[in-house]
Amino acid sequence: MTQLKKEFQKKDVERIRNLVQGKYGEKTRESVGYTPPDEQHKEGDIWESRDGRTWTIKDGIKQNITKLDKAKKAHVMPLFCPKCKKIMDQRVDKPYYNTYKFCLNCYAKFEDKLKAEGKYEEYFNNINNKVIDSRIQDFKDFVESKLNESNTGHVTEQGDVETWHGKLNVERVDEYVKETVEYLESLKK
Ligand SMILES: [Zn+2]
Repeated sequence: MTQLKKEFQKKDVERIRNLVQGKYGEKTRESVGYTPPDEQHKEGDIWESRDGRTWTIKDGIKQNITKLDKAKKAHVMPLFCPKCKKIMDQRVDKPYYNTYKFCLNCYAKFEDKLKAEGKYEEYFNNINNKVIDSRIQDFKDFVESKLNESNTGHVTEQGDVETWHGKLNVERVDEYVKETVEYLESLKK
């Protein structure tokens, strides 16, 4: 898992992150007809879009706050391992719990079993593909939310008028989404 995760991250997370941040590179930016809004939000800012959804920027990525809260809740670790009932260690067991919903010891047994059954590779390829599917969905959601942003100004809670000048060219976006999804699909095993 760690190895696959690393491979995926090294090659792709930077690219996806850049896409999501609108850093398409000059050539790509022109081709999707995107100009960044005058008012840039920075890391940690919280603001509401015209459709009433609340956004923030975390790790350089614009995210819907409702989604973040959900993700946070999913990562709260119980005191005992749901599988072997032993007490779990925040530092040692947490990464395994996040992914597998059981402790490191249970993971080791699980891995041995997969290897013994010759299913190890298949299992991890499957995980890799699921990660890619979720990246594709996140990317589509992002584009969708970007398309729904309006160019007309709106009044923020603080009473400031905010205007989005950045607007995507819809036809170009379809092409661009297709290309990106194809690229992500090609990483599947
Ligand atoms: Zn356990």
